[in-house]
Amino acid sequence: RQHMARGLPRQRPIPGVKQVIVVASGKGGVGKSTTAVNLALGLAANDLEKSVGLLDADVYGPSIPKLMNLRGNPELTDKNLMRPLVNFGIPCMSMGFLVEDTAPVVWRGLMVMSAIEKLLRQVDWGTLDYLVVDMPPGTGDVQLSVTQNIPIAGAVVVSTPQDLALLDARRGAEMFRKVNVPVLGLIQNMSVFQCPKCQHQSHIFGADGARELAESLGVEVLADIPLHINIRETSDSGRPVVVSSPESPEARAYRRAAEEV
Ligand code: ADP
Repeated sequence: RQHMARGLPRQRPIPGVKQVIVVASGKGGVGKSTTAVNLALGLAANDLEKSVGLLDADVYGPSIPKLMNLRGNPELTDKNLMRPLVNFGIPCMSMGFLVEDTAPVVWRGLMVMSAIEKLLRQVDWGTLDYLVVDMPPGTGDVQLSVTQNIPIAGAVVVSTPQDLALLDARRGAEMFRKVNVPVLGLIQNMSVFQCPKCQHQSHIFGADGARELAESLGVEVLADIPLHINIRETSDSGRPVVVSSPESPEARAYRRAAEEV
């Protein structure tokens, strides 16, 4: 499905990028970055003709370098733009490439805005069909600044089925609506845990929370991703599940979500 982004006056497209899809969440720790990475890889795997990039806009806690097993400093092009680092065929850009892992970055509001501006405007993406943006959690200045700066085809909101996460996810979805970014749907993460020994399924964070929220917002649940050790381990080792076990049910769930966006 194609989504036409309605451009606001201050919005300028990123040169070469056809569609921007942001992955957001109300809270941290719900699996937003893991989803962004596997969604980007899923988009690329579903259609080998499409080129997909990944932008880590979570300047406070960049996860893309670890998840995509990338480190180092981007080279500059002759136009003084940063060249993304590439793994698994996906060009990536992250604040994590520009500051030391261990250096505590004490951000002031203005610095955050200039960092975001740099990540949005000073990267040479070449040509991309999709740019997947891993947003910081919540609904603050960074989210607003991204939505005001570039036309966005749609937002995917990640939540666990837990009440508190859902409450924040609703705020996130409503923020996007307010700024005219279409909400493509919710991804319910960690909804079911299947015991590897006895196969019993437990709904640790509840079962259907995201489904009910999606209904009340009038959007779809794009995927239901189980709580699975394979997802955690492959993420930690920098070989995301969509590339390391493409035939697993977990990887298929991400690829199905990618088909929906
Ligand atoms: P966020 O970006 O929302 O802060 P992350 O994507 O960093 O969250 O995920 C938080 C932690 O949970 C990570 O250790 C990640 O590997 C793990 N995780 C995320 N989704 C799943 C899942 N479906 N099953 C198992 N572990 C998961």
